[in-house]
Formats: sequence, structure tokens, C-alpha cells
Amino acid sequence: MTIADRLTAEIEARRDDLTALCQDLIRIPTLNPPGENYREICDYLDRRLLRSGFHTELVRAEGAVGDTEKYPRWNIVARREGKSAGECVHFNSHIDVVEVGRGWSKDPFGAEIVDGKIYGRGSCDMKGGLASSIIAAEAFMDICPEFQGAIEISGTADEESGGFGGVAYLAEKGYFAPERVQHVIIPEPLGKDRICLGHRGVWWAEIETYGEIAHGSMPFLGDCAVRHMGAVVSEMERSLFPALAEKRTDMPVVPEGAKQSTLNINSLHGGEEEQAEDYTGLPSPCVPDSCRMVIDRRFLIEEDIDEVQEEIHGLLRNVQSARENFTYDVRELQRVLPTMTEKSAPVVRSVAAAIGDIMGKGADYVVSPGTYDQKHIDRIGRLKNCIAYGPGILDLAHKPDEYIEVDAMVESAQVMARSLLDLLGGGSKGVG
Ligand SMILES: [Zn+2]
Repeated sequence: MTIADRLTAEIEARRDDLTALCQDLIRIPTLNPPGENYREICDYLDRRLLRSGFHTELVRAEGAVGDTEKYPRWNIVARREGKSAGECVHFNSHIDVVEVGRGWSKDPFGAEIVDGKIYGRGSCDMKGGLASSIIAAEAFMDICPEFQGAIEISGTADEESGGFGGVAYLAEKGYFAPERVQHVIIPEPLGKDRICLGHRGVWWAEIETYGEIAHGSMPFLGDCAVRHMGAVVSEMERSLFPALAEKRTDMPVVPEGAKQSTLNINSLHGGEEEQAEDYTGLPSPCVPDSCRMVIDRRFLIEEDIDEVQEEIHGLLRNVQSARENFTYDVRELQRVLPTMTEKSAPVVRSVAAAIGDIMGKGADYVVSPGTYDQKHIDRIGRLKNCIAYGPGILDLAHKPDEYIEVDAMVESAQVMARSLLDLLGGGSKGVG
């Protein structure tokens, strides 16, 4: 039996361990917002990774957005050195999960197993991937104790809310510097035979239109900010949405609908603030003097961020030239540039070869419609050798009755371990 085959068999033999690990992680509800139980899950991972021979560090993102005494932003970084110097492979998983939402038929934190699927919030996105990477590393270290270089595993906070108390913080502290880490695999649920090379760009902005308050029975004495915003929406329908549909990318973005530029009107609010649910009174009659729209524009690697902004400014100037008393502001909320790792990058080639060996088919290359923590590794860490690869069906993320298949976790762990063998070597004793 080759060392590669022994590794694959070893992971199959740890199927129950992998299942139990994933269940334990799901049963620690790490809802974000607000960012609950980060310390608990880091302590759990700390015990596990210490036991398997890692050196661990718990890092609190002090001062990061969201970090408070009540909800501290804890992260864990674990590192295990090999027998000799070499490169470092880092597996990064986020530990937070999104709100439960309605429509569940299973306990969202029960981690119940039905027909080979583990159900729970965060099972697919992405505690299943985290569990797979831990089992892959543990099996590899046991079978190939003489490996070169180092393995790192991190569990990080706040990916779902931008990653500033997680990967961004660690990257700023040098944890993803190219001299420390050479290969990064993020086990997000892109599917066990797909390699995600990067993501589209994002431009979030808030548009505000202004009016003048007056009594609602005499709207002619005021100026309605909501009607001004209505003109913005119709101009978007007339000129912007058709133009965005025309912009197509060569990036292998999935799903198909995201191969074009998109814009979501995330929220729209004008006039009186909505009252709390227990308010039983009526609204008071006022002409709204402000209307705010938050837009979420996703753009392609072929587009330039300046053009993306100019598109909105140009649209607003058009509305202004056609409308009396139209005044507005645009405020940028967030920007992330598109990123795509080269197919020739070492981590891509290694994982692609491992997928070929384990699945008996070629890897598919994809690009994510939305961003994930790769954005910080790329921008702050300046590390280009980064991909997302992990088990799970992307479409289940954030949905009711989210689940992860045990078989997919096992196969992904086998791919990850095979890739470790390729990148770090089996050591002289291990070969055979
Ligand atoms: Zn995720």
C-alpha cells in the first residue's frame, strides 16, 4: 500500500471521529450577530488541537468592530512544526454561524443525523469543513510524522459580518504574512470536487435623497424625499439593470446568474422610523424629508471600482437634470476588490491533483458570487496562494434545515490530506 493509500484509509477509519467532532462544533451555538460563544468554541478547539500535538494561541481581536466585554471576538490559531524546515499549509475556517431563521424541521443546534446527513445551523457553512480539515491534519501527522514545514489550523470570528474581528485582525498582526504561511485553504462549502479561486468585487453604498417636511394634508407645502427616490428606482430600472445584465465575465462564477454584474437594493427607507411592534398608535402625517437606499453592487474582475461608482453618480446626475429640487448624497459603506488566484498557483495544482486521485475526475474551478475571508488574506496578508475548498452544498448555507453529508466530509478530508502529503512530503521514513 502506498503512503497516499494509507492516508486515505486512515481517514475512512476516522469517520466516526469526524462525525462526532462536527456534531460537537454544531452544538456550540456561535450565532453572529451578536457573536456568541466564541470563547467556548475556541476552548473546545484548543483542547482538541493541543491533544493532537499543535501549539495553540487564543487571540482576542481587541478593539475590532464588534469586540466588547460582553461579546469578545476570540480566534484560535494552531501550528504544528514538522521534522524539518519547509512551507506552511494553513486551513482557515470561520467559527460563526448566521441566525437560525424560520422553517426548521430539526433542532438547529441538535446536530441530529438522518440518512448520513448532519443537520444544524453552521453544519455546511462551515463547521463540517473545519472538522474535515482537523481530521485531515491529524491523520497526516500520524501517518507522516517526519513531514517538512508546518501545518496551521485557525478558527476565526465574524466572517459572516465582514471578518474584521477575525481574519482581517489576524492578517494585520502578521498571521498571514507570506514568510509565515505559503498556502491557504479555506474549507467553505463550495463542494467536494470544486476549487474556488476567488470572488467578485463588492461596492456597498447608501444613497440619500432629501425633501422638506410639511403637514401630510398639504404635501404641496413640502417636498417628498420618497418620490425623489422613486425617480432613482425608475431610472435604475430603465437604464442601470439592463446595462448590468450586459456585462459578462470570463471568471468561472457560480451560479450562472452571477456571471454578470449585479445590484441588489438592500433596503429602502423614507419618512418616519418604523415603530416597535408593541406600538398601537397611528402614524403622524408628515411629508418625508429624507429617504435612504442601501445598494449592494457586485462587480467583475473586468470592471474597475471607479467605473462602478461613476455609474451610480452618473445615474443620479441624470435624474437631477430631469427633476426639480432633486438633491442627494452618496456614501460608500464598504468596498472589496475582486480577486482570483491563478490556476497555476501551487495550492491550486496540488488540490486539483488530489481531487483527481480521490474522486477519479478532474476538479471544477469556480469563483464565488460573494466575498469571504480570502479578501483579507489577499489584501492585508498579500498572500496570493489561497483558495476555498471544502465539503457541503453552497446553496444550503444560511437556509433552514442546513446539513452536511458525512460522506462529503470524509472525501474532502481525504483530498486535504493528500494535498498535505503533496505540499509537505511524507518524510523519509514514511515513504513506502
Ligand atoms: Zn461561510
